[in-house]
Amino acid sequence: AALSAAALRVAFPGSRGHAGARAVDGVNLDVGRGEIVALVGESGCGKTTLARALLGLQRPTSGTVRFHGRPLAATTRHLRAYRRRVQFVLQDPHGSLNPRHTVYDAVAEGLRIHYGTTADETEQVAAALSRAGLRPPERFFLAYPHELSGGQRQRVVIAGALVLHPELIVADEPVASLDASVRGEILQLLLRLRDELELAALVVTHDLGLAWNIADRVAVMYLGRVVEVGPVEEVLTAARHPYTRALLSVLPESGAAEPTVLAGEPPDPARVPGGCRFHPRCPALASGMADRAGVAQRCRTEEPAIAPGGSTPHIACHLFPAE
Ligand code: SF4
Repeated sequence: AALSAAALRVAFPGSRGHAGARAVDGVNLDVGRGEIVALVGESGCGKTTLARALLGLQRPTSGTVRFHGRPLAATTRHLRAYRRRVQFVLQDPHGSLNPRHTVYDAVAEGLRIHYGTTADETEQVAAALSRAGLRPPERFFLAYPHELSGGQRQRVVIAGALVLHPELIVADEPVASLDASVRGEILQLLLRLRDELELAALVVTHDLGLAWNIADRVAVMYLGRVVEVGPVEEVLTAARHPYTRALLSVLPESGAAEPTVLAGEPPDPARVPGGCRFHPRCPALASGMADRAGVAQRCRTEEPAIAPGGSTPHIACHLFPAE
């Protein structure tokens, strides 16, 4: 794998009278070369904290992040080199572009940080804009963010990552703020970059439908853990984990007769339930299915194991003990 996390945990200490939060609570996850992995979950499930830990922006409490097998060292020099090869594409292109910087400067910024002003800067910026689908690139050099559409701004943000020739990008909700038609174009762009440049991506999203359209593999996260991971067709056409099934049931693509409404409190990383962390809301437990399978007691008392390899298909649920 290009990037892998093993037994990764990120905990935040509580403040007066409040419990600390186990934002990432034992995650194994791999992203292979040229592979698009969607990391899917509701807000508060820890996916953004996990992404930040993978990028070296958030120090894990325990566990390791490796890039081509080498642990991420905490030294500034190593992290700088790492950040050239693994780029963060932020959500909300309004927020991540400085309104007073031209497109040229926005894209050149990463180059200047890592290499200073180089002789071929103009060509590099033009090539990155062009790869991001802004053509002819020179037409955009002097534009300011407010003169561009939402889709064009997102392409500028992507060009700002591409200019450093990364191997992998981590994109946090890359299309959440865009119109439906533009979303499709940006997703097509990510697929094209994967095919043409072998650019891998970890796409962080709350939207399982997006995962369906873009990912090679999908990892579903609930309250700090990956509860189901596998090839996208397998997970989305034959989901097994009760949480994945509930998420899927609201998508029109799933063909489910009725959406599954999850009972109970929304997940709170400061109060992770004992046993299976999903058990207070689990439809399989509530319906008696887990009881009939003889696992209901374990659901309430025992955390389902997580397979150590972060790329093999697995499900963290007592109903699927072999996986
Ligand atoms: Fe539901 Fe039990 Fe599976 Fe947890 S382990 S998801 S409670 S069936």
